[in-house]
Amino acid sequence: MQAGCLAPQPFLRVITRRISRFTEPRGGGAPIAAFTRISGKPILERGVISIPDIVIVMDESLLNDPLANPLSGLHAEGVVFINTIHNPSEAKKKYTVAAQVVAWDITKIGIDMLGSPVLSTLAGGVASRIAGIKEDSLGKAVEKEASGILTDKALIAKNIEAALCCFRAIQPGEIKATEPVRKENPVIVVPFEPAAISSPSINTTGNTPLRKTGNWRVFKPVWNYKVCTRCMTCVARCPDGCIAVNEDGFPSTDYDNCKGCMICAEECPVKAIEKVREAHTW
Ligand code: SF4
Ligand code: SF4
Repeated sequence: MQAGCLAPQPFLRVITRRISRFTEPRGGGAPIAAFTRISGKPILERGVISIPDIVIVMDESLLNDPLANPLSGLHAEGVVFINTIHNPSEAKKKYTVAAQVVAWDITKIGIDMLGSPVLSTLAGGVASRIAGIKEDSLGKAVEKEASGILTDKALIAKNIEAALCCFRAIQPGEIKATEPVRKENPVIVVPFEPAAISSPSINTTGNTPLRKTGNWRVFKPVWNYKVCTRCMTCVARCPDGCIAVNEDGFPSTDYDNCKGCMICAEECPVKAIEKVREAHTW
């Protein structure tokens, strides 16, 4: 995108998990990444960014995912933002990052300011600050994007406020942007990536249970058996088939694979399932 940008042409990668719920997103899904080139001049190159200057990690659990590999190609003079409850020096040490680390719990900001861990505008605020985009450009961009998908004016205003809150809270140091590759060549070139990175294929048959998708959760369902009537609606509704019936006849979930979509809590007719915030503690 072209923008009121102070830093020289940073390349940006944003990585998160696909939202697994249609109406009110709560839990995570498969890893997804988006890429943006930012410049005050026309941008002629497009495609995947292999050597980012800035990486925004919206879901910390992806840093432990070798297939997602969100920090690949990030150079030592770049910046990574990590959405975490831990401070930057702890995160830098934990994930062995050579680049500058900026860290903050934007999930909490989403819950506090928007009532839900919807992180797009918050991550936009963080990314804008790190990339050197001006505050008024961010406010206008969030208003334009939010107005395209929301009709509630109050919610649009809250999104702008939340994005600006994140923008003002982040204090990154200087970044040194990489020189644009192939700047003399306007041809679109998508770099080759090995299949393990670029394809969504599961390369080994029958390995789904081995992938501990429980670490994708933002919220954890917790059952109150004093209220539960054992109607088994939650068992039938769980999209991942995670809920079994225990020896006492009550529903009991497999937390190794429960992704925290909270459909079970929404469908429970007597509200016997509580939504409890989870954060990654090391
Ligand atoms: S147990 Fe509940 S929160 Fe977990 S995956 Fe199933 S429906 Fe979603
Ligand atoms: S839907 Fe609610 S009441 Fe029914 S079994 Fe599940 S937790 Fe119990």
